[in-house]
Amino acid sequence: AMRHLPFFCRGEVVKGFGRGSKELGIPTANFSEQVVESFPSDMSTGIYYGWACVGNGDVHKMVLSIGWNPFYKNIKKSVETHIIHSFKDNFYGEILSIVIIGCIRSEKNFSSLEALISAIQEDIEEAKRQLDLPEHLKLKEDNFFHLPEGKTVNH
Ligand code: ADP
Ligand code: MG
Repeated sequence: AMRHLPFFCRGEVVKGFGRGSKELGIPTANFSEQVVESFPSDMSTGIYYGWACVGNGDVHKMVLSIGWNPFYKNIKKSVETHIIHSFKDNFYGEILSIVIIGCIRSEKNFSSLEALISAIQEDIEEAKRQLDLPEHLKLKEDNFFHLPEGKTVNH
């Protein structure tokens, strides 16, 4: 499964299942079903880290979950990105660009909400540490996120 990494992906942010992740302080930007289906089928469910960019905005650290989607009775995967940055507004409908670099852990069940939240906090800390490594930092500058200077779209 790791042979797919780094994995570059771009797509629209859609409304999710609304399971209250914002209330937990951990909003996750969901990709559409179409984008999820473009993922390699043998990419394991679990928590990953990488870089993310909304529209033409700055590139930020992110943690990403590939999991089973209860809305589709767990027969379809969901891919959700938590960007490690405070945004003033929602960005539904915008284009999210990500590069998935590495895996943190596989999908787990938690006995309590507190246990879930603290696991996610640990995932975020691990992502921050990993992404500070020089070999991971360099992907932040990848042309995938920004058109080279002097070039414009539609020309
Ligand atoms: P949904 O179930 O619709 O995905 P969430 O509670 O997971 O709802 O919130 C996700 C939405 O919050 C994103 O689609 C985005 O518009 C917004 N958002 C604001 N800040 C962030 C962030 N730091 N990371 C991800 N999404 C964010
Ligand atoms: Mg979400």
